Amino acid sequence: MGVSLSLNLGSLEDADQEQDASRERDLIIIGGGPAGLTAGLYAGRAQLKPLIVMGESFGGQAATTSDMENYPGFPDGIGGMALAEQMANHAKRFGAEIEFDQVTKVDLSQWPFSVETYGGPYQAKTLILCTGARSRRLGVPGEKEFWGRGVSVCATCDGYFYKDKTVVVVGGGDSALDEALYLTRFAQEVIIVHRRDELRAGPILQERARANEKIRVVWDTVVEEVLGDTGVTGARVRNVKTDEEQVIDCDGVFLYVGMVPNTDMFRGQLTLNEEGYIVTDKRQRTSVPGVFAAGDVQDPWFRQVVIAAGAGAAAAIEAERWLAEKEYEVSEGEAEG
Ligand code: NAP
Repeated sequence: MGVSLSLNLGSLEDADQEQDASRERDLIIIGGGPAGLTAGLYAGRAQLKPLIVMGESFGGQAATTSDMENYPGFPDGIGGMALAEQMANHAKRFGAEIEFDQVTKVDLSQWPFSVETYGGPYQAKTLILCTGARSRRLGVPGEKEFWGRGVSVCATCDGYFYKDKTVVVVGGGDSALDEALYLTRFAQEVIIVHRRDELRAGPILQERARANEKIRVVWDTVVEEVLGDTGVTGARVRNVKTDEEQVIDCDGVFLYVGMVPNTDMFRGQLTLNEEGYIVTDKRQRTSVPGVFAAGDVQDPWFRQVVIAAGAGAAAAIEAERWLAEKEYEVSEGEAEG
């Protein structure tokens, strides 16, 4: 009896120690979009046993893209979710661990850094921040009220519900046109409401939109209110040049008015630019030694999956080098001491 009790206690202690060890990591990657997953792949291959804390959505924004036509190696295009799944499997194959959890707090003032998740706390010797960016909201009446009931930022997720219906797409950038074109697969009419008289989107998308009979653009116009009852029934819009108002009858409003970086958690702990993006140098280093950042959270200029993936790879290479130097410093210090 005594023997079996001590054996059980022993195995419980072992389990506790294993649990503690798994909470002390060389590298934690926060965010599981293309940047985070590629960082995980490179760090895995460097034997760092990285932990990727996925965050709110698998694959980040990229996973919500219907067809990605500009990721190299896929001349016929690939769905954003399919690409994210391939990236996750690739990272896991080389030893990255993926946790479907969310980081709630980080403390970068002490080393190792502390990371809190809903599943419990971790300590990490290095961090790669890949928390991405989220869609900007308009902040007009009705937007919040009809969120998920006609107001959306994801045509891939919600487009199917608008078969033979009329939808408004707000914005004039690549996302607005890309998603407006996708929505024409379902909707009978897609009305782009843009605040200027010129689109920001690239020429290929502009040409495709112009050629699509289901798409119409309402120029120089902003949405003032989303109208509805149980769901969206229209958008009250105003022409910014004439101040004239009108109601566009529609069943859905899709917003593509730019992005906001997910950096609230890091505010005051490392250098952000005036728009809130993490400032990094060419080697993906942030202002805190040992903390790197990659992807849209530090890139307001390109916001391309291939660039996020490249930055993730660079961040992992740098994290591995930083760790090696730090370990050398620590062992030198101990030898001298
Ligand atoms: P974006 O380029 O910043 O465009 C945002 C659009 O929303 C602009 O047309 C802007 O108008 C408009 N806008 C901003 N605030 C507004 C407001 N309060 N009310 C009304 N309209 C407002 O954002 P994005 O289209 O999401 O693209 C982000 C990045 O991802 C870009 O670098 C883009 O090239 C890239 N991207 C690329 C692809 C692709 O390669 N196929 C696809 C999607 C996204 P103004 O034009 O007047 O500023």
